[in-house]
Amino acid sequence: MFEKSIKAYEEACQVIPGGVDSPVRAFKSVGGTPPFIAKGEGAYLIDIDGNKYLDFVQSWGPLIFGHCDEEIEESVIETVKNGLSFGAPTLLETELAIEIVEMYENIDKVRFVSSGTEATMSAIRLARGVTGRNDIVKFEGCYHGHSDSLLVQAGSGMATFGSPSSPGVPADLTKHTLLCEYNNIENLRKCFEDSSDIACIIIEPIAGNMGLVPASEEFLKECRELCDKHGALLIFDEVMSGFRASLKGASGIVDVEADIITFGKVIGAGMPVGAFAASKDIMAHLSPDGAVYQAGTLSGNPVAMAAGLTSLRKLKSIPNLHTELNRKAVKLVEGLKEVATKNGIGLQVDTRGSMFGFFFADKVPTNFKEVTDFCDFKRFGKFHHEMIKKGFYFACSQYEAGFISTVISDSMIDECIAAADEVMQNL
Ligand SMILES: *Cc1c(COP(=O)(O)O)cnc(C)c1O
Repeated sequence: MFEKSIKAYEEACQVIPGGVDSPVRAFKSVGGTPPFIAKGEGAYLIDIDGNKYLDFVQSWGPLIFGHCDEEIEESVIETVKNGLSFGAPTLLETELAIEIVEMYENIDKVRFVSSGTEATMSAIRLARGVTGRNDIVKFEGCYHGHSDSLLVQAGSGMATFGSPSSPGVPADLTKHTLLCEYNNIENLRKCFEDSSDIACIIIEPIAGNMGLVPASEEFLKECRELCDKHGALLIFDEVMSGFRASLKGASGIVDVEADIITFGKVIGAGMPVGAFAASKDIMAHLSPDGAVYQAGTLSGNPVAMAAGLTSLRKLKSIPNLHTELNRKAVKLVEGLKEVATKNGIGLQVDTRGSMFGFFFADKVPTNFKEVTDFCDFKRFGKFHHEMIKKGFYFACSQYEAGFISTVISDSMIDECIAAADEVMQNL
């Protein structure tokens, strides 16, 4: 039933490294061949063999209204008719910026880029430019895109100087990246004792790249206090959680304000858009107003802006949208937990708005090391494989969060839980 995809994958591997343009798509951590997608249809993905899957990945986050939302598609098609790109200002950029600025008291200006990677990379350059300092604090298990100084992985419980987690990244480029344990206040304090050259902390306030592991409010408050005390800036990387965890992302859930917020994924509704935003004082340092350089040929692309604008306006116009998405997320993970328990399997679950996560573990992990130590990755791989066969498309790694879209119904969730029950009987 995967014949065409298997063949397509072999052909792709001849001309594209690993057959994919982003490594996680290759299914390496769960085994098997990735289905090649022919099209999306509301809550469903349809592959080239004609298999249909209920989609909990949603292009890794962007599609909060599911596939082929009519209003978003229409706005894109209308905009395309006027041309694809101009490399000159358009009204749509200002309109989308206004939609974002209106939501946050601490945000006055937004700069659009073309990916989440660009957003975080530029936010860090800005923080370094504003403070005149070099070091940045990053947490184990948080992913901020693939720019050199952020490709730093595991360390020890001690604050260590990060070493690159990929060949091709010179150690010289990561020596300013200080690595700390997520949700570990002592560790973070020590970091600020060790270095007087810290420009910023960058954090996923709701981590979604080691599975779903939210930072405690106490921890985020400590981040804020340490930044204030030492003259560093706090960057919330809300590329995943933005407009998803709540309308205002994590910033709408915890009582902590960041200095710079980065966006991606939902902000482009499936088109390549990223953004970073801050107060006018901070943004005054950015070129052409200030000296910190940042640019992009396709930045603020009109077609991408149209998709983002329509999506964001739609998000704002539906009352209690995130409450309803969260109700469904809770229904899904509580249902999964119930059938897991029934089958003698430990499952830890959590949700934030439309984000959900589950770990095959007996204890709740609160940082990257615990995720690695507590979780049964083999069992996850098997679960993933069997669920795909039954038509349920979960992210192909225990290190990823899942997403509910507005087009996923209660009965679809019931079907998913029933399928999971059957799968867990032989897990
Ligand atoms: C996806 C993601 C990024 C990178 O965004 P890309 O668009 O893939 O470059 C950065 N930060 C977080 C938190 C993400 O989830």
